[in-house]
Amino acid sequence: MSRVYNFSAGPAVMPEEVLARAAAEMSDYKGTGMSVMEMSHRSAAFEEIIAAAEAKLRALMRVPDGYKVLFIQGGAHLQFSMVAMNLLGRTGKADYAVTGQFSSVAYKEAQKFGAVRACCDMSSVNHTRIPEQGELSLSGDASYMHYCMNNTVFGTLWPYIPDTGTVPLVSDISSCILSEPLDVSRFALLYAGAQKNLGPAGFAVVILREDMLAPISAPLPTYLDYATHIKSGSMYNTPPTYCLYMLGLVLDWLRDRGGPEAMRERNEKKAAELYAALDGSELFTCPVERGSRSKMNVVFTSGNADTDDKFIRQAAGEGLVTLRGHRSVGGMRASIYNAMPAEGVSALADFIRRFEG
Ligand SMILES: *Cc1c(COP(=O)(O)O)cnc(C)c1O
Repeated sequence: MSRVYNFSAGPAVMPEEVLARAAAEMSDYKGTGMSVMEMSHRSAAFEEIIAAAEAKLRALMRVPDGYKVLFIQGGAHLQFSMVAMNLLGRTGKADYAVTGQFSSVAYKEAQKFGAVRACCDMSSVNHTRIPEQGELSLSGDASYMHYCMNNTVFGTLWPYIPDTGTVPLVSDISSCILSEPLDVSRFALLYAGAQKNLGPAGFAVVILREDMLAPISAPLPTYLDYATHIKSGSMYNTPPTYCLYMLGLVLDWLRDRGGPEAMRERNEKKAAELYAALDGSELFTCPVERGSRSKMNVVFTSGNADTDDKFIRQAAGEGLVTLRGHRSVGGMRASIYNAMPAEGVSALADFIRRFEG
């Protein structure tokens, strides 16, 4: 088997051990004589898979009592709508921090459902840094404040949890979930599309405090009402069964490697090695301010589109693939999620130095 180092932003690299275990269990899951993707979602075997996935996630993230953990199809994008529809009812107002691509889409979507304003808009600096607390213009009567913790496209990470007083916090953690410890109790709601750090594309994880729910007055479509998924244990309709099975395997892998604490240490080392290569380079620069740098998505460029193209082509020739930056940013982006081995990052750092030399 020949594996490349895949720096894709998502769907993204999966741990090789997880792929091997899935392969071993592919056609006969634990003596059932069938693949997980062939079994009824109401079967005892699958009920056990989904319950275990939730329990493992709760344990790894230390989710406090009083929070529900849901698996909902439609990815993070459906959560842009569901968050607003299910939480805006308290005051009809919400604050959104606009710090990149996805937070901007979330902001525009939420505007359909209430008086939603931007409490900061970093597009004026092309999203190359995260605002400081003092730059946030917060309204005291917002139903919630929404921000995207790690900006996958622009390669920035909020280095602090914003202080919003009594206003509940909501965060999109799609590209940083389980990359380091997070105090869930600081949030009313967290959500994450699966395909960055959790498993295959096909669902989002939602962690919410049930008492924070305040739906808008219009009747919600059944599927878009969190209450539906709470009542049914994420089994209102057929869930993405195989993806949830894969989530369970990824969570086992994470637990066996020491959980979020160990991931933080690994991820900080990986990111530091890559940023050091870029900071030491005379050809490449990282446009992101140091204090706002992501540990998951490292954005860089030579400033010359032809040179960037050549870099991406030659890197691919060495098995370092999917390095092209998002179409809105250009240049390169190396996504180095939990499953990216340290060896892959070292190989890329080494290639950066050789390309230049
Ligand atoms: C990838 C990503 C999304 C979009 O996820 P989908 O599952 O494709 O909807 C949203 N927010 C962030 C931070 C992401 O990284």
